[in-house]
Amino acid sequence: MLGPLIIDCHVHLNQYEHFPGIPLEKRLRLLLDSMNNYNVDYSLILTSYKVTSHRPSTSEVLELTKKYDNLGVVAGFSIDNHNEEDLQDCRRWFRDGSIKAIKLYCGYEHYYPYDKKYQQVYDLCVEFNAPVMIHTGDTFQKQGKLRFSHPINIDDVAVDNPDLKIVMCHLGNPWFLDCGEILYKNKNVYGDMSGLFFGRIRQESEEYLAKRVTELLNYLGREPRCLLYGTDWPISEMGIYLNFLRKIELNTQDRDLIMFENAKLVFGI
Ligand SMILES: [Zn+2]
Repeated sequence: MLGPLIIDCHVHLNQYEHFPGIPLEKRLRLLLDSMNNYNVDYSLILTSYKVTSHRPSTSEVLELTKKYDNLGVVAGFSIDNHNEEDLQDCRRWFRDGSIKAIKLYCGYEHYYPYDKKYQQVYDLCVEFNAPVMIHTGDTFQKQGKLRFSHPINIDDVAVDNPDLKIVMCHLGNPWFLDCGEILYKNKNVYGDMSGLFFGRIRQESEEYLAKRVTELLNYLGREPRCLLYGTDWPISEMGIYLNFLRKIELNTQDRDLIMFENAKLVFGI
């Protein structure tokens, strides 16, 4: 048994503006269909930093997905929209193995990743040897504030929490080289390449982004043990994303690391 050959470590079941009027169960069905169409063996579903009629709670997503062994869940957590009880839920979910990580939404939420308020989340992740995923780079919404999501902020968290595994989501897009330096310097930091573009992409933009990711890989100057494949589905479409990946020159060994081997280790899949 080879195990999963493609792990998408970053998808959502939220209902976004370009996907209106589709109920949660149908969105799950669309996710499973898309995975099936593109031979994606396993996906990690990230829940939101807030719960609304368009954004299901972690417990809702856990309930809905528990019978699928090709899906994992990452609990969204925020200072402004969650409380001590929610953190205790995360502790329980880590203990019984139902969540793989916690996701923070710096930028969307106006706190730096090194804000003392997040320390309880980092301590919990260390206790269960689980990664924390942190949004970095451009925010999908205009109310987001970029100074909180700039990848340079991750360095403080990485240095002060050497036993914490940190996943920088979106490679700090558009600050790829800044993200590359954080990855190069800190061996406890990883980067997921999800959400670099929305929906369909112009050929020129695809080439531009493929160049930036290649530069980041070259800057690292070693095998990419810190890079993880992810799409941000349904914001990005799985087939289009796999095509984009083909624009990045990779040998088979490096490709396997990025597509599944690293994720297996980081998330314990
Ligand atoms: Zn996302």
